Amino acid sequence: MLKIEGLTAEIEGKAILKGIDLEVPKGEIHAIMGPNGSGKSTLSYVLSGREGYEITGGAASFNGQDLLEMEPEERAAAGLFLAFQYPVELPGVGNANFMRTALNSIRRSRGEDELDAMQFLKLARARMKELSMPEDMLKRGVNVGFSGGEKKRNEVLQMALLKPAIAILDETDSGLDIDALKIVADGVNAMRGPDFSALVITHYQRLLDYIVPDRVHVLMNGRIVQSGGPELAHQLEAQGYASVEAA
Ligand code: ADP
Ligand code: MG
Ligand code: MG
Repeated sequence: MLKIEGLTAEIEGKAILKGIDLEVPKGEIHAIMGPNGSGKSTLSYVLSGREGYEITGGAASFNGQDLLEMEPEERAAAGLFLAFQYPVELPGVGNANFMRTALNSIRRSRGEDELDAMQFLKLARARMKELSMPEDMLKRGVNVGFSGGEKKRNEVLQMALLKPAIAILDETDSGLDIDALKIVADGVNAMRGPDFSALVITHYQRLLDYIVPDRVHVLMNGRIVQSGGPELAHQLEAQGYASVEAA
């Protein structure tokens, strides 16, 4: 499970995370909702080990391993997956090669055989069919010229191939029309099981109609100020974040 205790972090000397306490048990899907600028993306970046964020206090562990001491590749090998709000474009890096390299690096760390190009393609094509993704997206540069919806589907494809123990999805719903949103949600729901956890970060309740979370946490101004069941998302939709602030 993912366990975060009193986590504080700064960007360029500015305190952004002001004491995050959160536990996501194995097999559960938790949502983090919060207004713009509350620190949602910062939390996902800090958990992924991105540079530029200074951890000033607290702890974060995954299955008992100290996440904050691990390199980003070690976090991935331990089963952590992050889908970012703004997926990066990598011109000149073929999407298929990129994903096969990532998958093989994780397979190596698990002591599994690496997949050759043909084995990988077979696997990827099956998953892409489920995600209604055209096959030519494998040949193109990573995310290059992909529409917003295609980038999000590509992230879900990566997740389906890597089979992480925990996925952190940062506003995977932003910019998606309803059909793409359902495809992304189906991709996440297909992963549900006793060995899969997820932290679904979103500004809007809409995504949580399709990915029904076990718990919902409200992040405001760098702190989790309220937690509850799925009904909390509906309450926020109806009453807005101001209703929480006043509480
Ligand atoms: P959210 O994802 O909830 O919208 P963010 O984590 O992106 O929030 O941002 C939290 C706060 O950190 C905001 O006030 C934002 O302006 C600030 N921030 C984010 N990135 C940087 C940066 N690189 N430099 C300075 N401030 C930043
Ligand atoms: Mg934002
Ligand atoms: Mg964000």
